[in-house]
Amino acid sequence: MSPEAFRNVDLHTHSACSDGTVSPAELVRIAHRAGLEALILTDHNTVAGVPEARREAESLGQRFAGGIEINTREGDCTHILGYGIDPTGAGLQDLLAGLRRHRRERVERIVELLQRLGVQLDLEDIRTQSDETVGRPHVADALLRKGVVRTRSEAFRRFLRRGGPAHVGSVGPTVPEAIAAIRDAGGWASLAHPGLLSRKCDLGPWVDAGLEGIEVYYPSHTRSQMRRFLETAERYRLLATGGSDFHGPRTDNEKIGGIRMPPEAFDRIEGRLGLIGGGA
Ligand code: AMP
Ligand code: ZN
Ligand code: FE
Ligand code: FE
Repeated sequence: MSPEAFRNVDLHTHSACSDGTVSPAELVRIAHRAGLEALILTDHNTVAGVPEARREAESLGQRFAGGIEINTREGDCTHILGYGIDPTGAGLQDLLAGLRRHRRERVERIVELLQRLGVQLDLEDIRTQSDETVGRPHVADALLRKGVVRTRSEAFRRFLRRGGPAHVGSVGPTVPEAIAAIRDAGGWASLAHPGLLSRKCDLGPWVDAGLEGIEVYYPSHTRSQMRRFLETAERYRLLATGGSDFHGPRTDNEKIGGIRMPPEAFDRIEGRLGLIGGGA
C-alpha cells in the first residue's frame, strides 16, 4: 500500500501530565505541524491534560479528542485505552484517585530498592514530576538528571525493567475493572499495544467484560503481528485502533503519527471518538 493509502491520524499519545515530555498544548501544536487529521490525548491514568489540549485544538482548528490509557496490574504493559469518555464520570474518577495513591507508594518502593543498590534519589523530586500518575519513566528521568544513566532506555535496561534489580510490578485495576470504569464514563475500551504484552493473553474474558477494540496499528508491531491482531479482531468482533504512543523528545517514542492505519479501519471508529473541530 502506498503511504497515501493510510490515514494520518494518531489515537494514542501522551503529555507531561503523565510521562510525556511536552505539555498538552505543545502536543497539539506538534500534531498540527505534522498535519494530523485527528489527534487523541491518551495520558496514562489521568484526564488532567484534556482541557488545555482541547483549548489549543480549538484555537488551531485541530481535530482532537480526549481519551485515556489505564495501566492495569495484569503485567507490565497490559494497558487499556479508553475512547469517547466523559472525563467527569464518577466511577472513572474514583478508580483514578485510588490508582494515583498506589502509584505514589510504588515509586517509594522503587526508590528504596535503588537506595539498597547504592543509588540515592530524592523521592519528593520524583513525585513532583507528575501530580497525576508518577511511574518508572519519572524515576528514569531522575537517574538521568543525576547522571547515573544517559537515556530513559538505559534506566529501564539496568534497573527498572521487569526482572531488573529495582523493578516493582505494576499496580492498578484488573483489566475488567479498567474496562468497567471506561464504560461507566460512557466510553469504550481497546487493548493497547498487544505486541508488547509479556505473556500470551486469553482475550475471551476481557471481551466478555466489554472490551471493544484492539490496537492493531502500532509502530513496533511487525507485519505478521498486525495480521495476527487483525485475525483476533475479527474473531472477537473487535474494532481495530492505532496510535504511535508518542511521548515527546528524549523518550522512546519521539515520532507522532505514521501508524499505517487503513481508511476503512478509521472510518469504522471515527464517529465514536468524540472528535471536535477541524471541519469534516
Ligand atoms: P510504569 O507505568 O511505571 O509501569 O511505566 C511504564 C511506562 O514506561 C510505559 O508506558 C512507557 O512509557 C515507559 N517504558 C516502558 N519500557 C520502557 C523502556 N524500555 N524504555 C523507556 N521507556 C519505557
Ligand atoms: Zn507512557
Ligand atoms: Fe502503554
Ligand atoms: Fe501509551
